[in-house]
Amino acid sequence: MSDAAQVRQLETLIQIAQMLNSLDIEAVLRNILRLTTEAVGATNGSFFLFDEHEKRLTHFIASRELSAEERAKTSFSVLEKGVAGWVLGNRRAVLIEDTVSDPRWLMLEDRFRVRSAMCVPFFIDGSMRGVMTLEHTSPNQFDSTALRIAEATATQAGTSLRNAELFERVQTQQEQLEAVLNSISDALFVVNERWNIQLMNPAGRELLGSEDEDVIGKPLNGVSPNTMFATLTAMIIELFGRASAQDKVFTFDLRDDKLFKDFSVTARRLVKEDGSEIGESGDGGYVIGLHDVTSLKDLTRLKTHMIQMASHDLKNPLGVLIGYLDLMQYDITHNTMPDPMYIDHMHKTITRMETLIATLLEAQRSDRDVTMKRVPVDPHELIDVVLEDNADAANQHNQKLVKDIQKALRPLRGDFLQLRQAMNNLVGNAIKYTPDGGTITVRVRTEDDRFLFTVDDTGYGIPADQQDKIFSSYFRATSSATRHIEGTGVGLSLVKEVIERHGGQVGFNSAEGKGSTFYFWLPLLE
Ligand code: ADP
Repeated sequence: MSDAAQVRQLETLIQIAQMLNSLDIEAVLRNILRLTTEAVGATNGSFFLFDEHEKRLTHFIASRELSAEERAKTSFSVLEKGVAGWVLGNRRAVLIEDTVSDPRWLMLEDRFRVRSAMCVPFFIDGSMRGVMTLEHTSPNQFDSTALRIAEATATQAGTSLRNAELFERVQTQQEQLEAVLNSISDALFVVNERWNIQLMNPAGRELLGSEDEDVIGKPLNGVSPNTMFATLTAMIIELFGRASAQDKVFTFDLRDDKLFKDFSVTARRLVKEDGSEIGESGDGGYVIGLHDVTSLKDLTRLKTHMIQMASHDLKNPLGVLIGYLDLMQYDITHNTMPDPMYIDHMHKTITRMETLIATLLEAQRSDRDVTMKRVPVDPHELIDVVLEDNADAANQHNQKLVKDIQKALRPLRGDFLQLRQAMNNLVGNAIKYTPDGGTITVRVRTEDDRFLFTVDDTGYGIPADQQDKIFSSYFRATSSATRHIEGTGVGLSLVKEVIERHGGQVGFNSAEGKGSTFYFWLPLLE
């Protein structure tokens, strides 16, 4: 090989090596073709590239402009019968000194009139993935040196294309992963062994609630105003601290006291395929998922409450029964015939107990649908029961329990017991949060084809800055006037749950020191 040829080859290879950084397949091929054409002094060149599995042509690049028809014709015939086909079949390069006398060259009606040509295969990871053809309009233009240059560049092209393909694959996978992460409602975080956030999805960012735009790389327990994340981190450290090396995943419950939400947390230690841990210090990082289970927890609480209420309600009829039994016993020991009305009353009372027990059993084994009956409910009967339920308590506090009930109310559809519980909660709160001597007004009417239940009180009211959280589980408003009043903060969240499950809506107005109005709407029975 002449000095000049050697220099040319070296230059070409260096330039191609530099291109390995370029990851756009089309651009890489075009550059390789251009450089090789120049290096071997060809007038034209072309590149065929197949995909890995199907041997389908994925790229066809020619150094000269071809019409769509020419491209189609060339790619078909040359690959099938021409020199490219020969190279594909024989898996080695070919040098054609004169196309006129070489049967391997397929003579197309060629306005460029190719006379000499070279065609070299190139391989990616051992499999043949394409051919590069270099042409000249005069015969005897290429020698073995030129062929070696072409072969060397083809080898480089293989490496370069492999990188580009890997990059494309990684990029596609990353895009798919991002699409999945973005679409799920669970909050997801990936942290390294120093708890710095490496990755998170939009739900995670929202939960984090950080004003800081650029939280990637910052510690999970340091960037959020939500103190739940400090607890979360501490819990994971503790769990894995106590765990054996085989324990890779932990699931635990976590409550966010600020947002009044319950989460089921899954923390997975990051490990490599061989089982060794990832991370410089060997501690490994974690993938942390937070699944919102608030409504499930609320349902459990609702169930517990219903059972508590039903058990409580069983006590009253039992007392009534014992009372009648005492009366009957008295009559019998005094040789008088007991009043048959007693039996009537006892019968009614036992039927009431039976219904309650049935409800209790149903609630105990229920899930969402079974818990709630959907039967016609007579609103007059419901209101009477609720007013009766609360009469004693209002009396004890010298409060007036005023009722303002529309005459003919249309029936509702729902669960009598749950609606009674919801109304009792609102009336009970009005009594509880109103000083002795105040007035509680229960208003019931049909408006805009809906059932409207309202409780007005002349009580302490709710401070304006605490009103937005009032329906969240466990939230209790605090003011000096109501500090002494006991409660759990569960009642209103249950009311909201019950009413919304009946297709209704709750609301309230309140002014501190003046009083509150709580209300809800329900759809009527069609
Ligand atoms: P609890 O009464 O057990 O605290 P609730 O969920 O029933 O729980 O009520 C939540 C909070 O709403 C109460 O702690 C109280 O601060 C406020 N609240 C509810 N009803 C009234 C009312 N009628 N007047 C004033 N404050 C009320």
